[in-house]
Amino acid sequence: MLHNDMSFSDEKKREILFIGEKNQSHLALSGILEENYRILFVHGEDKASETPSLIIIDLDETGARQRLKEFKHRYVLQAVPFLILSSDPKIEERYHYLGADGFLHKSITDKRLILARVSRAILSAENKKEIYVSDHVYSYDPDKEVSLRLLKDFEMALRNEEFEVWYQPKFNIKEKMPVLSSAEALVRWKHPVYGYVAPGDFIPLLEEYERIFDLDLYVWNKAAKQIDTWKKELKIFVPVSVNVSRIDMKNEKLADKLLEITASHEIKPQDLLLEITESAYMEDPERIIDQVKKLRDCGFLIEMDDFGTGYSSLAMVSKLPIDALKIDMRFIREAFKGKTDTRMIEIIIEIASYLKVLTVAEGVEDDKQLSHLKRVGCDIVQGYYFSKPVPAKQFNRFLEEKLELMS
Ligand code: C2E
Ligand code: CA
Ligand code: CA
Repeated sequence: MLHNDMSFSDEKKREILFIGEKNQSHLALSGILEENYRILFVHGEDKASETPSLIIIDLDETGARQRLKEFKHRYVLQAVPFLILSSDPKIEERYHYLGADGFLHKSITDKRLILARVSRAILSAENKKEIYVSDHVYSYDPDKEVSLRLLKDFEMALRNEEFEVWYQPKFNIKEKMPVLSSAEALVRWKHPVYGYVAPGDFIPLLEEYERIFDLDLYVWNKAAKQIDTWKKELKIFVPVSVNVSRIDMKNEKLADKLLEITASHEIKPQDLLLEITESAYMEDPERIIDQVKKLRDCGFLIEMDDFGTGYSSLAMVSKLPIDALKIDMRFIREAFKGKTDTRMIEIIIEIASYLKVLTVAEGVEDDKQLSHLKRVGCDIVQGYYFSKPVPAKQFNRFLEEKLELMS
């Protein structure tokens, strides 16, 4: 378990609010957490002494959703993360929609796994503010009318082409100078009322309601067309990576649809890289691995996204048919926070080299990060240091630069 090897020493004194009755399973859990955290059980109107580092809510208790809402309001400005505890087997699929930063299924008893999930929820909330504030007009909240409005508007928006595909460059850093290697396609919704809505605000919603495949087909089509346009207009070939939702991975038509798309734009399957989040592999490993094998047999290249956050075991990773590992940006952030410590990144790079696959680092924001990543042997980087995601037209400047270098 990769993630479990991370230790966050500064979490020792952190406080966790546990909202719920003190029953057996709660006491067992708090017993495990007590080694690293201060646990406070609260009921009704009780409050924590200070801002807690995490709030755990048992979703099985009556009124839990209402309490979740109340506590969210109370701690919204401090961005306190929430972790949901539940016996619902579907909790993993639902926790995002409920606005939580993590989940624990009650059947999980493995101490290291529990501690890893808690650490991860705390870490994700710390980064969330930074990651999502930039281009945001509104923040995803399942309780708000706006989410329902987005859901209702979705079909019309697809027809009206309100979705724009933006591109963020990836650079190969193996040579002396970084060389543009590909682009990642990232969707934005230009909503007539809300303006630009970031994917974090509607992707989980579309996943929850199983509408994501329609949007992804749209994005993949646009991306494939863009590859062809760049080839024809600028005489340059740039592979584009697209995101494949964990929901898409369950679709039996996935490979056929992707092949249809590449054929209709006269590009090869290997020109479209598929980014699949590591956590998708955990839901139904056998089925996902079969799907990935099928995609690779068709010629598509697979990049495992958000690597290091999905809790896949090393035994499983070693069996996965993939072409690249994309290190989750939390590792980059964590490594360069305070005293630089890139050990986790180096471990991931070592795993990648053992698997003979490339490593991609995302979320690279400055010079220092870039030079460290280069030193430890990372192959490809992506991040604000080079560019935020930009509309296709603006992306052309990277292509023109590359053409100049080549000539
Ligand atoms: P992701 O695939 O992990 O994409 C990386 C996210 O990090 C993007 O956010 C990108 O804009 C942002 N990012 C890139 N470099 C930096 C950096 O240096 N610093 C910081 N702070 N952030 C950086 P974005 O575009 O908001 O997308 C969020 C997530 O939404 C994506 O995470 C992906 O999971 C999902 N997504 C985006 N487009 C699509 C799509 O077309 N289909 C599906 N299924 N999911 C998508
Ligand atoms: Ca991605
Ligand atoms: Ca990612």
